[in-house]
Amino acid sequence: GREEKVAIIGAGNWGSAAAMIIGRNCAKLDIFDDNVTVWCLEEKVDGGNLTDVINSTHVNVKYLPDHKLPENVRAEPDLVKSVAGATLLVFVLPHQFLARTCKTLKGHLAENVKAISLIKGIDFDDSGPQLMTNVIKRELGIEACALSGANIANEIAAGKFCESTIGYESKETGALFFALFNEPNFRISLVQGVAAPQVFGAIKNIVALGAGFCDALEMGNNTKAALMRIGLIEMYRFATQYFQGVDTATMVESCGMADLITTCMGGRNRRVAEAYARSRLEKGDDHRTWEDLEAEMLNGQKLQGTGAAKEVFQILTRDNLLDKFPFLVTLYRIAFEGKPIEDVVHIPEEHFLPS
Ligand code: NAD
Ligand code: 13P
Ligand code: CA
Repeated sequence: GREEKVAIIGAGNWGSAAAMIIGRNCAKLDIFDDNVTVWCLEEKVDGGNLTDVINSTHVNVKYLPDHKLPENVRAEPDLVKSVAGATLLVFVLPHQFLARTCKTLKGHLAENVKAISLIKGIDFDDSGPQLMTNVIKRELGIEACALSGANIANEIAAGKFCESTIGYESKETGALFFALFNEPNFRISLVQGVAAPQVFGAIKNIVALGAGFCDALEMGNNTKAALMRIGLIEMYRFATQYFQGVDTATMVESCGMADLITTCMGGRNRRVAEAYARSRLEKGDDHRTWEDLEAEMLNGQKLQGTGAAKEVFQILTRDNLLDKFPFLVTLYRIAFEGKPIEDVVHIPEEHFLPS
């Protein structure tokens, strides 16, 4: 067959760690062109352009310092140029930027391009929740797989063993992306269907806010485990409420329970939510805002859980489903309506009955 050429769209924290894996596999395997391009939104670092720094030092000093990208990975500041000749596109951006990025790419893709989304987030329009893969299909008319798992980027960049899940619609495309990502320390499982990994990946970011609130209250491990369990139920409930073909087995793949656990222990959503809750507990009405803390603590990286909490609350309100998702609703009300942090553990008893 033809040699596949890869373009990565996004050079943030996960985009850069993923570029390390992709770069190694493209150099190693004959089915992939060795040269990998990564679109990097240009910005200034220490007076220079981030793309120039990446291309001369092979380090993304802003989003993944301390790790070298393979030398066959080249940063490109022009989005349209970055996809020239590409047959495989890897979308790895904060979710709020996907739709507009796709609109710029429209009309500039080669024939028969295939995509994969590494994004954890969900969009909403008048017809309801939209998967990232559906946004890609809607804007660009191309098929997309979804990769999601217990994958904190810095740990992956350091080469520590973990797993991830790729959901596919067509088996052949799934196999191609398996080859692009699978490594001894990044072990991929394939699942049929793209909805479950994406919905779990989006909703667990909201649950992680609860883990941060729990940590600010110094509630301990049992409480956090209980919140993860309740969160997992609502993740699954949301996925089956809005999408076809979501099965329970996928919950015990890396993209389900494992991702929820790692994010509630070590993720950015958890960390910033703890700081937000501590600020509320200490300063009352003079507390820091989500925007302040995101800017101050993450150096340009983006929180995904706060946006998802708002978007999910909106759609549940529209569809009269607030009662079915008491935990997600409570997290939204704590984060955005001033509900007390302590209410994170006030979950109605009927929630524990079988539904
Ligand atoms: P990030 O949080 O590091 O965000 C910074 C990136 O956003 C930079 O590349 C920046 O150029 C880009 N950006 C900022 N403004 C933009 C704009 N207007 N248009 C386009 N891009 C813009 O990004 P990340 O960590 O690579 O995360 C991308 C996705 O992957 C998210 O959905 C995240 O939830 C998911 N994810 C992240 C991790 C992780 O550990 N970082 C792990 C798994 C999944
Ligand atoms: P955070 O965005 O909360 O850091 O979570 C990263 C992640 O998705 C780990 O799998
Ligand atoms: Ca090769």
